[in-house]
Amino acid sequence: MADFGADVELETFRGEARAWLEANFPASLRGKAGEAMNLMEGGTPAGDLAAWRKRLADKGWTTPTWPTEYGGGGLSVLQARVLQQEMDKVGAFNPIHSVGMGITMIGPTILDYGTPEQKKRHIPPIVKGEVRWCVGYSEPGAGSDLASLTTKCEDAGDHWKVNGQKIWTSGAQYADWCGALVRTDTSKKHEGISFLLIDMHQPGIETRPIKLIAGASPFCETFFTDARAAKDDMLSDLNKGWSVGKRLLQHERASQTGAGGMGGGRSTPLQDMAKSYVGVDEAGRIADSDLRTRVARHLMDTKAHGLTIARATAEARGNANPGNAASVLKNSATNVAQTRSELTLEIMGHQGLGWDGDAFTSDELQTVRGWLSGKAMSIYGGSAEIQNNIISKRILGLPDATQST
Ligand SMILES: Cc1cc2nc3c(=O)[nH]c(=O)nc-3n(C[C@H](O)[C@H](O)[C@H](O)COP(=O)(O)OP(=O)(O)OC[C@H]3O[C@@H](n4cnc5c(N)ncnc54)[C@H](O)[C@@H]3O)c2cc1C
Repeated sequence: MADFGADVELETFRGEARAWLEANFPASLRGKAGEAMNLMEGGTPAGDLAAWRKRLADKGWTTPTWPTEYGGGGLSVLQARVLQQEMDKVGAFNPIHSVGMGITMIGPTILDYGTPEQKKRHIPPIVKGEVRWCVGYSEPGAGSDLASLTTKCEDAGDHWKVNGQKIWTSGAQYADWCGALVRTDTSKKHEGISFLLIDMHQPGIETRPIKLIAGASPFCETFFTDARAAKDDMLSDLNKGWSVGKRLLQHERASQTGAGGMGGGRSTPLQDMAKSYVGVDEAGRIADSDLRTRVARHLMDTKAHGLTIARATAEARGNANPGNAASVLKNSATNVAQTRSELTLEIMGHQGLGWDGDAFTSDELQTVRGWLSGKAMSIYGGSAEIQNNIISKRILGLPDATQST
């Protein structure tokens, strides 16, 4: 845990947060963040989970750093981190943080680029968890080279008309709204792109789920056929969507810097799992010395990643805007999470080969699926190679090798 020093104001806030959690977080939900994960697949909360979501949202703490005038908590970055620490201590969780892409990507981008009317209309429902958003960027012919996108948006007088196809649209089958990059001028590449907010509940949109290697269908092909968007649902100006799109990606990458991610990790510490599966030597250490060295190296990398995040948060102070450094942290988080997954599977030996059946515990089966789905970490939000390009170009100032994001 980061030491923020003897900051009296922060410690006062810590006391307030602790007392509020004590009074409002239902004990029945302690450590049950998994129940919120079920909401990702279109579920509606009930009972204590519904009550907890409402209390946290009414307090503005589902989006702690967002402005209070749009329903957010108005906290500084450091206060938000203290709140998270206090939530972790009592096993509390944010029930809507990962439900759709409103909190992590679309909301922050609307706050950065939206008009006051757009913020008033779209931000409060995100804070309350009432709407789900998806992000429509990738197309069959536009992934890393995103600016090649062709989904066409025309001015149809009283509305925008959209035709084309997106792919890999996470959660599109459950989403109420889509933040999409569309082509509004075919004569220019980057300067011919606009950012449109599109209501998903209309006949002109069809979603077809795609199965991922780990068995779930978290994303879709999304088809737009004469789909409509209101004239005032364009974010920023016509043909100025590329800058908006890049900012959203920075928010996305910043939200993916936690190394817990989809790495398939189990709550048991890796070293304990290694001792249990592989055995111990006479000194009580992991019996296999090569494995022991690699586990130790991984634990040091994990610690270094955590400390780097804490330092970046402390240095950012009031500034919640991510920059290109999000690319460094995203790659680092991916390395840590994927290495942990690989080591976990290796430690489990043949127990790490299960897909279903009684020969494996549910933890073991989950680990295998987590290992598979964790492969996606180095692809979504822009692949690891694209992050390296951004780091070399925008942080290290090396020559421009790509026209990508
Ligand atoms: C689980 C998951 C969820 C996703 N969710 C969404 C979503 O919600 N919305 C959305 O719009 N998209 C989403 N995506 C798509 C994701 O953003 C793209 O897959 C990603 O940007 C890569 O694009 P691509 O798949 O077309 O691969 P390509 O661009 O074809 O890349 C193929 C390979 O070539 C490498 N490569 C390409 N260009 C370069 C270069 N210039 N320099 C070096 N290497 C290069 C890449 O690193 C990669 O290894 C998701 C993807 C996954 C896996």
